[in-house]
Amino acid sequence: MKQVLFLKPLFFFGLVWICKSTIAQTPAPDLDSITEDSYRRMLERQEAEQNDIVYPNFVAPEYDSNLETYSVAAVSSPRGEGIIGYVSDPNDIIDFAAEQRINELLYELEQKSSVEVAVVMLPSIGQEVPKSFAVDLFKEWKIGKADTDNGLLIITVMDQRRTEFEVGYGLEGILTDVVCYRIGVNEIVPRFKEGDFGGGIENAVLRVKEFLENPEAIDEVYGYSVVHEEQEFKWQWYHLLLLIYPILCLVFGFWYYGQAFDIQLSKDDYYDKYHRLDKLKFGCTQYLFPIPMLFFARMAKRRLERYRNAPRFSKLNGKPMKLLTNYDEIEFLAEAQLLEEELKSILYDVWITEDESDIMFLEYEGPNGRKYSDCKECSYKTFGKISSLVLVAATYDHGGTRIDKYECRNCNYKEEKEIETPQKSRPSESSSGSSFSSSSSSSSSSFGGGSSGGGGAGVSW
Ligand SMILES: [Zn+2]
Repeated sequence: MKQVLFLKPLFFFGLVWICKSTIAQTPAPDLDSITEDSYRRMLERQEAEQNDIVYPNFVAPEYDSNLETYSVAAVSSPRGEGIIGYVSDPNDIIDFAAEQRINELLYELEQKSSVEVAVVMLPSIGQEVPKSFAVDLFKEWKIGKADTDNGLLIITVMDQRRTEFEVGYGLEGILTDVVCYRIGVNEIVPRFKEGDFGGGIENAVLRVKEFLENPEAIDEVYGYSVVHEEQEFKWQWYHLLLLIYPILCLVFGFWYYGQAFDIQLSKDDYYDKYHRLDKLKFGCTQYLFPIPMLFFARMAKRRLERYRNAPRFSKLNGKPMKLLTNYDEIEFLAEAQLLEEELKSILYDVWITEDESDIMFLEYEGPNGRKYSDCKECSYKTFGKISSLVLVAATYDHGGTRIDKYECRNCNYKEEKEIETPQKSRPSESSSGSSFSSSSSSSSSSFGGGSSGGGGAGVSW
C-alpha cells in the first residue's frame, strides 16, 4: 500500500511532463500568414483529397459582353449543355481562381447533399428590386431538385451594392433568414467593401456549406442557438401517473359497476342488498377516483332507495307488509330506539302486515352514524363525544395533551380518553426562495434581437 502511495506523485509528475513535451512539439500556427478562413480551406482541401473527389472541368456559360443592364431572361445560366459550374459572372467580377474554388466547394456540396447553389454577379439590373429579381430568376432557373426544393441563389447587383440570398423551401429550415443575413453581414459585407468580391462569395459559400452539412455549426459560429428542432420531451414520473390515472379510474369504475351488478343479481333479500351496496360507497377510493365515483354514487343512491322501499312480505305467513310512517312507528319502537332516531345514528324502518300478525324492524345507518358508537352498557348506538379539553397545547417545540369526554345519551355511561396531539410543524423556509431561479435560466438562450424581420435574406454593402 505504501509503495502505491509513493508511486502516485511520480506517475502524476510523469503525466505532466509528457503533456508539456507534446504541447511544445506541436508547431504553433503562424497567425499572421494563416487566417482562420484559409486554414479552414486548407482542411477542406485535405478532406476533399481524402475523399477522392474528382472535380469536373468547370466550363462557364457564354456571356453577351455588350450588356450592362440585365433582365432575368438575359442572365446566362451556369447549367446547360456543355456548361458545368455554379457561377454566372459575365463581367468577371470574381477572379478566376476564386471562381474555381467556389465551383469546387459547391460541387462537393451537391455531391454530398444534392443541394444546388447558383452564384450570380451582375453589374446592374436597372431599376429592378434585387429581391424580386432574385425570386424571378430562382423561378426561371428552377434551382434545386424538384422533390426536395433544395436550391439556393446568391445574387449580387453591383450598382445597387446589394446581395440577396434566395432560399428554396426545402432549405428554409436550416438556412433561415437570420442565418442568411448573418452570413451576408459577416462574410460578404466586409470583403465587398474592400473590393474582394471573390473572397466574399467564397467565404459565404463556405459558411452555407458548413450549415447545410452540419446544422449544429449554427451554434458554434454565431454563439446563439437557432431553434430548429423541437424541445426534447423528457419523461417524468408524473407523466406516467397522468397516463395511468385515467386507466385506474376506468378500472375502478368498472369494478364498482360490476359489484353493484353482482348485488343486483344476487338472491339476497333487499335488506342485505342494501347493506352490501352501502358498504361499497365507503373507503378512500371515492377520494382517489372522484369521477367514476360521481357516477357510481348517483346510481347507488337510486338503488339504495329502491332496495329500502321495495315491497316486502312476511317470512311467517307470506302476507304483504307495509312500511309505517315515522309518526306511526313511534308506538312500536323502544325509548332508546327513538333516541337513536333523534340522534340520527340509526334510522328504523318498521314493516307490518295488515293484521299485525308479523312485524319487522330494519336498521339503517343514519347521517350521524359515524359520530356514535354502540354503548358498552346499554348497547344502543348512542355513545358519542360530548366535549374535549386541552390540557397542554401543542407548540412548535413539543406536542400537547387533550382529554376527550364521551357519554351515552341513553344510560349516561361515561368515558374519558387522553389524546397526545402532535407537535406543530414550522412552515418550511427553504421553499420560498427557489421560485425565482428556475425562470431566469431558461429564457437566456433564445435570440431576442429581431434584426431579421425587415431585411430578410439580403445585405447591402
Ligand atoms: Zn348506554
